Amino acid sequence: MIADNLVRIREEIARAATACRRRPEDIQLVAVSKLFPAEVICQAYQAGQHCFGENYVQELVGKRPEVPAGAEFHFIGQLQSNKAKLAAECCTMVESVDRLKLAQALHRAMLGSARQLEILVQVNVGADPRKAGVDPAGAAEFLRQISGFETLLVRGLMTMPPLTDDPEESRPHFRHLRQLAESLQQLGLLPAERVELSMGMSGDYRVAIEEGATIIRIGTAIFGVRK
Ligand SMILES: *Cc1c(COP(=O)(O)O)cnc(C)c1O
Repeated sequence: MIADNLVRIREEIARAATACRRRPEDIQLVAVSKLFPAEVICQAYQAGQHCFGENYVQELVGKRPEVPAGAEFHFIGQLQSNKAKLAAECCTMVESVDRLKLAQALHRAMLGSARQLEILVQVNVGADPRKAGVDPAGAAEFLRQISGFETLLVRGLMTMPPLTDDPEESRPHFRHLRQLAESLQQLGLLPAERVELSMGMSGDYRVAIEEGATIIRIGTAIFGVRK
């Protein structure tokens, strides 16, 4: 069933991308495996899915040794600074960086490491009080503050708009994130060539692709409803 879901979603991604003249290979699928056991990740891995998203550090630390070493993880949840080291060790990318203290903790955790940690800055484009993320107006200042952390490779922005049943309601937030990324690029605060935009989940990833998403984070549509 997971393999079938992955095939269907990859087809949907390709369809949505070509419909707006984008290349399907420019859109990375992150399979959000939070609250599902390691064996479920293994099934998806065998079906060719190698990048996974996790929200909880303890859960990730527990599952990591039980899944293939080739599996790659993005941390996408709220992250306390005191767990930054564990997250940095298990993940290639932390998508939810939204505080100086957290960036500092990740930087310290990566000092002496042979690799850099890829990060995205999470932006609260919907100004949703229940959502994490920096204020769009403060994003430039935040990027300046973290620019000295040479262990961190800032790849782009991530957002999670207010929950809704209507994907069209997410569209203006996705557009806002893309426009913000463009202006931050012009300021030289994001990479000039390829900026990652992580936006879109099971309910609204097609709209996110139309609005320029390069990373989509899909859980329910692959693994089913979480308990
Ligand atoms: C859980 C989660 C997702 C996946 O949501 P689905 O609706 O199950 O696809 C994506 N992004 C973040 C940040 C999440 O916490």
